[in-house]
Amino acid sequence: MLLKSIDIFFSFVFGLAVGSFLNCIIYRLYHHQSLFGRSVCPKCGHQIAWYDNIPLLSFIILRGRCRYCHQKISWQYPLVELITGILFVAAFFYRGCYLSISNNLLILLRDWLIIFAFIFIFVYDLRYLLVENAIIIPAAIIVFILNLILKVPLTKLLLAIGVSVSFFGIQYLITKGKGIGLGDLSIGLLMGASLSWPNILVGIIVAYIVGAVVGLLLVLSRKKKWESRIALGPFLAVGTIIALFYGQKIINFYLSKLY
Ligand SMILES: [Zn+2]
Repeated sequence: MLLKSIDIFFSFVFGLAVGSFLNCIIYRLYHHQSLFGRSVCPKCGHQIAWYDNIPLLSFIILRGRCRYCHQKISWQYPLVELITGILFVAAFFYRGCYLSISNNLLILLRDWLIIFAFIFIFVYDLRYLLVENAIIIPAAIIVFILNLILKVPLTKLLLAIGVSVSFFGIQYLITKGKGIGLGDLSIGLLMGASLSWPNILVGIIVAYIVGAVVGLLLVLSRKKKWESRIALGPFLAVGTIIALFYGQKIINFYLSKLY
């Protein structure tokens, strides 16, 4: 029990740190900055001291403002840190595993990588309406290899990738790239490699249901018009994370209703 609470605490703190790193690479990739070097305030350019760069805590202590120019720090920073921390704990919790057992550790590392990549997709696509292959393609390859090591059948992985990539590919061709960008095909690749068959179906269906509901709410609240383009990435991210944790349960539920 003690071991487990230490593991949960470690998962959370590690998740906060990864969330902080995510904020950093999201900003720097978009602004074509080096990933190395000290962080600076995007408003005034002042270098940020380590004690003002502690995930979550610094935002609270500084009350959401830069120490030097007193301008507001985006809510994206604490939110991404907190959500990464929570999802890292959730992955640990759902696998019911101890970090000390090596095979479980591999499953956990795979889930953490999937969560990392999809939080990146969520924020990047929502903020900039862009999909960044420099993160997505390497993540897809590593997750694919980890799944092979974890004895997920190759045929199921390839089937899942084929289904999701062609699903987005067909929409790309039909809408002539207006509804769906080529970047969404890379997300499809990562989704297939992450979820495998048949879980990929849950990921896609959940993503489209969430997308339809949110889209309708945005139109009703007059924030968007029918013909507006809404980023697809955030919904694919939500669908994938839900399928990662609950996919098997959802599939079992529907199969039990069928027979
Ligand atoms: Zn500043």
